[in-house]
This record gives sequence, structure tokens and C-alpha cells, in this order.
Amino acid sequence: MSKLMKAAVVHEFTKPLKIECVPIPVPGPGEILVKVMACGVCHTDLHAADGDWPVKPTPPFIPGHEAAGVVVELGPGVTDFEKGDAVGVAWLHDACMRCEYCQTGWETLCEHQHNTGYSRDGGFAEYVIASAAFAARLPKDVDFTAISPILCAGVTTYKGLKETEAKPGEWVAISGIGGLGHVAIQYAKAMGLKVVAIDISADKLNMAQDLGADLCVNARDDGAIDQVIAATGGGAHGVLVTAVSPAAFSQAIKMVRRKGTISLVGLPPGEFETPIFDIVLKRITIRGSIVGTRRDLEEAIAFALEGKVKTETKRAPVEDINDIFMRLKAGKVDGRMVLDFTHGTGED
Ligand code: NAD
Ligand code: ZN
Repeated sequence: MSKLMKAAVVHEFTKPLKIECVPIPVPGPGEILVKVMACGVCHTDLHAADGDWPVKPTPPFIPGHEAAGVVVELGPGVTDFEKGDAVGVAWLHDACMRCEYCQTGWETLCEHQHNTGYSRDGGFAEYVIASAAFAARLPKDVDFTAISPILCAGVTTYKGLKETEAKPGEWVAISGIGGLGHVAIQYAKAMGLKVVAIDISADKLNMAQDLGADLCVNARDDGAIDQVIAATGGGAHGVLVTAVSPAAFSQAIKMVRRKGTISLVGLPPGEFETPIFDIVLKRITIRGSIVGTRRDLEEAIAFALEGKVKTETKRAPVEDINDIFMRLKAGKVDGRMVLDFTHGTGED
């Protein structure tokens, strides 16, 4: 009989997750079994559980892609990890390594990729399978809770900021100061950028100020756009949109400087208006940005280990997941909620 683990499982989109005992998975060739110590709750997990996007996961599945833990078993052929190593398991579970994107350092665009907590079971469980080639190396004494949000929120915003092409001394506007945005502010400051933080919640803007934002603007203020234009002397050189609201995407276009770049990472379902005249005459670049490569992840982790980026986390047991999702949907989570798997076990 296989051993069991506790997990939060999506059985039906938009319905509460069930806390269940399911078999502990067995690592196949090239895979490792990771005992999860901490797993952050990303808004993407909520989109996954609600079936928000055109390409949907197939229930039943276990969400979670900010899993930090310890290697407890090696699948056949794994030589680059040992039992006891600390690792991070991120969204990019694996990629084909052969396509034009994988060959050119763009494995995040691989059409054959698998995603942790989406097309592969994720970290809202006591154990998760990772591909050894894609697991992030962490120091043995790492603070699992603190590092966990770096595995998605960190790498995604670090890469997204690079994609704005804003240079040290220039302005970047960060719209959406949730799990992603609160680390984005710190990456931006560490990269030498000046930061405008934008959200619709006073609490989030207070946190933004504490984290070093140079200017905080409520997106719903009538003069929000004017404030950004005035403070930045004509608009931000780069804009990073993490907000879970299509309105924020339209607003971003009005906040960017001529020749500037808007990097879109938020994924609310829907569409937004793009005024052709402004985009063309101001030579504005709008681009999407999806997580980051293994190299980006390594760099994003290094910023955190060096103390340049600190995550604001609160721990909770996996049993709280449905309540956490409700609060995330309502914009009531400050920083990141992290599921704590260091206590209790479903194994008997
Ligand atoms: P979150 O819920 O923690 O934060 C979202 C924030 O957006 C909240 O602070 C909310 O108040 C704010 N917001 C809502 N409406 C706004 C508006 N009109 N203007 C400004 N701010 C507004 O979510 P999160 O975990 O930070 O994730 C954010 C989004 O990024 C999600 O859609 C998620 O799926 C997506 N995401 C994308 C990638 C990627 O690789 N592209 C990776 C991770 C997450
Ligand atoms: Zn995520």
C-alpha cells in the first residue's frame, strides 16, 4: 500500500478545494521527490482553481508553484541532487529542451512545457515531484517560508522589470502591490530604479511606502495619471502591471513615457483597450512577460539571499486554503500567504 500525504485538491472549478489524503507520488526518471516545507499562495493558483484561462488544467489537480522544501527521494538517473538538499519548485516544471525557444534561452515559451500546480500536481501538499533539471538550488539553512514567494512572485517581477528595459536612475511604475508587486518594488530599488507604486488599497500603498517606493498613487484617484506624469517628468520609462484588473492595463498605457515599455504580467481574464494613435505616435512597446528562465530564477533567488529583497509572509495551515483564496479574491491579502507544511502529516 502506498503511503499517503495531505493535499489541497481541486475537483471542480470555482468550488472549494478539498483537503484529502492522497498517495505520495513516486519520482520517475530525472525527477526528485520533495518534502514541502512551505508553499506560497499565488493569485495564479486561484485562476487555476477557478478555470479562469483559455487553457485549463484537468481536475482533480493540486495547485501550488512556490514550493520550497527538501529532497527526500531521487528518481532513476538523477545525479545532480542528493537527499537532504534544499530546493525550490517553481511554475516551470519542465520544458522540452529541443525546440527553438529552449535552444535560445527562452524555455519559458516552450510549447511542450509542463507547469507545477497546473498540468503537474503542485505544492499545496506535503510532497511534490520536481524535475531535477528545473528545480532551484537553495542553501541548506534557507528560511523556507521567506524564500517561497521568490519562486514565482520574485522571479516573475525580476524578469518583468528587466523586460521594461528601464535603466538605473529611470522611473518604473508598478501597478498592483500584492504578492508580486511587494517584491517588485524591492527588485526595482535594488536595480537602481525609481519607483511609483500603484494600487487601489490604502493598506497596500502603506506597505509600498515602507518597502521604499518613491511615490504611492491610488489607481482610483481622479488625478492618478497626472500624479505619475508629473512626478516622473513625462511618464514612467517602464511600467510593470501585476494588477488583477483589465482597467489597470489600460491605465498603464497612459502612465508610460514616450518610447517606454509596458511589461504585462498580471493575468486577469479579459481584454483591454489599446489606443492605436498613442501607441504608434509615442512609440510605446507593450509586451507580455511569463515567469522567468532557470537563470532568471537563480538570479532572483540571489537577490533574496543577499537580503536585497525581503518577502512579507504570513504562514497558515493548508486547511485554510479556501479562506485564503476568498481573501485573495477580495484583495485582502497583504504580501504573501504561505502554506506551512512543517507541522502535522497525513502519512500513517
Ligand atoms: P495579488 O492578489 O496578491 O495582488 C494583486 C494586486 O492587484 C492587489 O494588491 C490588488 O489590490 C491590486 N489591484 C487590483 N485592481 C487594481 C487596479 N485597478 N489597479 C492597481 N492595482 C490593482 O496577486 P499576485 O499573486 O500578486 O498575482 C497578480 C497577477 O499576476 C495574477 O493575475 C497572477 O495570475 C499573475 N501572475 C503572472 C505571472 C506571469 O508569469 N506572468 C506569474 C505569477 C502571477
Ligand atoms: Zn505564481
